[in-house]
Amino acid sequence: MATAQKKLITPHISIMFCGGTGSVTGANFLLEVAISNSNDTDKTFKVLIDCGLEQGSEAAEKFNRQPFPYTPADIDVLLVTHAHADHIGRIPKLVKDGFQGVIYSTPATRDLTEVMLADAVHLLTEEASHLHQPPLYEEGDVQAAFKLWHTIPYYTPTDIGGCISMLAKDSGHILGAAMYELHIGTNVCPTLGAFAPKAGTATSIATKKYGETVVVFTGDLGNSPALFLRDTDSVAGANYIVMESVYGDRNHQSKESRRAELTAVIADTIARKRTLIIPTFSLERTQDILFEINELEHAGKIPSIPVYMDSPLAERVTDIYRQYSTDYNDQAKKLIASGDKDIFAVPKLERIQNNRESERVDSLPNPKIIMAGSGMSVGGRIIRHEQHFLPNRDTTLLLVGYQAVGTLGRALQDGVKEVTIGGEHVPVRAEIKAILGYSSHKDSDHLVEFVSTAGPSLKKVFVAMGEPKSELFLAQRLHDYLGVNAVVPKLGDTIELS
Ligand SMILES: [Zn+2]
Repeated sequence: MATAQKKLITPHISIMFCGGTGSVTGANFLLEVAISNSNDTDKTFKVLIDCGLEQGSEAAEKFNRQPFPYTPADIDVLLVTHAHADHIGRIPKLVKDGFQGVIYSTPATRDLTEVMLADAVHLLTEEASHLHQPPLYEEGDVQAAFKLWHTIPYYTPTDIGGCISMLAKDSGHILGAAMYELHIGTNVCPTLGAFAPKAGTATSIATKKYGETVVVFTGDLGNSPALFLRDTDSVAGANYIVMESVYGDRNHQSKESRRAELTAVIADTIARKRTLIIPTFSLERTQDILFEINELEHAGKIPSIPVYMDSPLAERVTDIYRQYSTDYNDQAKKLIASGDKDIFAVPKLERIQNNRESERVDSLPNPKIIMAGSGMSVGGRIIRHEQHFLPNRDTTLLLVGYQAVGTLGRALQDGVKEVTIGGEHVPVRAEIKAILGYSSHKDSDHLVEFVSTAGPSLKKVFVAMGEPKSELFLAQRLHDYLGVNAVVPKLGDTIELS
């Protein structure tokens, strides 16, 4: 039997910024590792990190329909950081356009992606038929993507081919969210066969030799300490970081003050017998708010109040959150161990099954809370509740998430006195409140602190996944505070790592 011949290798590493640069959404990065040595023919190993939808404008719709700036069939591996649409939304298109490599994510991200893409394909098909266009992709493309999918738990070093050992660390952003630490081009590479993509071969990074380059792709970074998710891991030893910067130029309100505000709004709803409507994102924000209400009621900070969950998608997502309690932080695990078996089980929580029940809820007596999607009031069941309740003075509408310009949610946050819903003019007499502290992203100070964990090995930071102003501001701060070489790549740039 031939023993694996060990060869010295000289990797050339580059990153192409194909999406999520100068923009929060559309994350798509191509890492290329070219290795040549005396015996092997040159081979370039291609790893894509995320394949998300660009969102929020007509230009975005056009961007999503464009061909990828690389040949999908040439990509060996796709790493998926987490299940938000702006990181997974174009995966079925990638498969439709020829990708046949291996897809990796954590188990929770895979399960969440299944639910989120099933919902997305439904919405995309509806949207496309209104516009008399073919949909971006179809159900069959989604199914084809899952045939290529492999799950790797956190903290399990894995040989993904191309002399790359991959480690999924916790980014603390949403359930299952990983940042990928790639140990590239260890100076001893077994054989050219190592270039073949591997479907989950566990390796030990400890056995790798010196001389490797460590590149970290952060995906989105959590607002740690989170309510029940683990803190973001450190990136000690990283040489290069490709990072998000959604809040690169701003800091959040404190966690104590956001909880105090939520307590006050619910207490007021109960005291004055009002309806409280909360438009929520199905993934993460819904679970955050349920956790908070459950905690506040358990601690006797507020009396028990009926909560109607009018979002089948949020219910499916919450069920997946329940299955992965192993991914919670110690505090949440202690709560469960102490008898609070379901941290999202608000005592008077009722799941709304269909549209008829949804209408019935509107006429139930106050006080009550209605939670429904979508989070920015663009589509979803929240719209009908808003149409019904916005004219009422005994209603409070509470915004707990970012509201993009041009959405109904943003108009309400900006204080408009009349809105148009389904062609009908609706006067706004309800009280509109916003708590902006429930972000699942790190703020500017904590992004700087995160980069500082890399230590002296750090050579360069690529600041991406933010509005241009945020990216530039954060790059400047990293330079000023940490003396780090931080750059803001442009869409389409390919940058060589030296
Ligand atoms: Zn995200």
